[in-house]
Amino acid sequence: MTTIKVSNIPEEGLKHHFRLDDEKLKDIVKVDRGMDFHPHTLDVSCDISKIQETVSLDLHLETEIDFDCGRCLESFTLPVKGDAHYTLIPFREDVIGEGEWSGEDDAFGFYREDLIDLESLVYEQILLQIPFKPLCRENCQGLCPHCGTNMNVSSCSCREEQADSPFTALKNLKVTK
Ligand SMILES: [Zn+2]
Ligand SMILES: [Zn+2]
Repeated sequence: MTTIKVSNIPEEGLKHHFRLDDEKLKDIVKVDRGMDFHPHTLDVSCDISKIQETVSLDLHLETEIDFDCGRCLESFTLPVKGDAHYTLIPFREDVIGEGEWSGEDDAFGFYREDLIDLESLVYEQILLQIPFKPLCRENCQGLCPHCGTNMNVSSCSCREEQADSPFTALKNLKVTK
């Protein structure tokens, strides 16, 4: 169940746990980032409470995503975890645009027709957690641009030759033009 009826939230609040199917997550990430990622099943838990019509929602999500490194192209698995707090109020025509803001771990939003769509909140958080250029490690050495050797696992002689030449910078300029 990924939608919550606000009128069903009890006085003492509720805890809710669910899993999201990885194929759908994969599609969403692909559309948003134009890249092919391979997510694993997504575990979500939330704490929901309300005061009158204002809903307070704590979201915790955990998954792993397989990426291809942006430098060396090797695939690796990145654990993705996110915590977010949302304050949700019933949708109102007159506050749209001005009323919406988003911070690091605190967000404000609307729900419509007594329903909270948890799925879209989860996807929003996942997209915030995903790096734009995923790297297998911070200091990934990447591939040699000349021979394609993966510099993390071995070395080649291209680099030394380059370093010896005083015209390296000039050569690179010409190549990139
Ligand atoms: Zn890498
Ligand atoms: Zn090389």
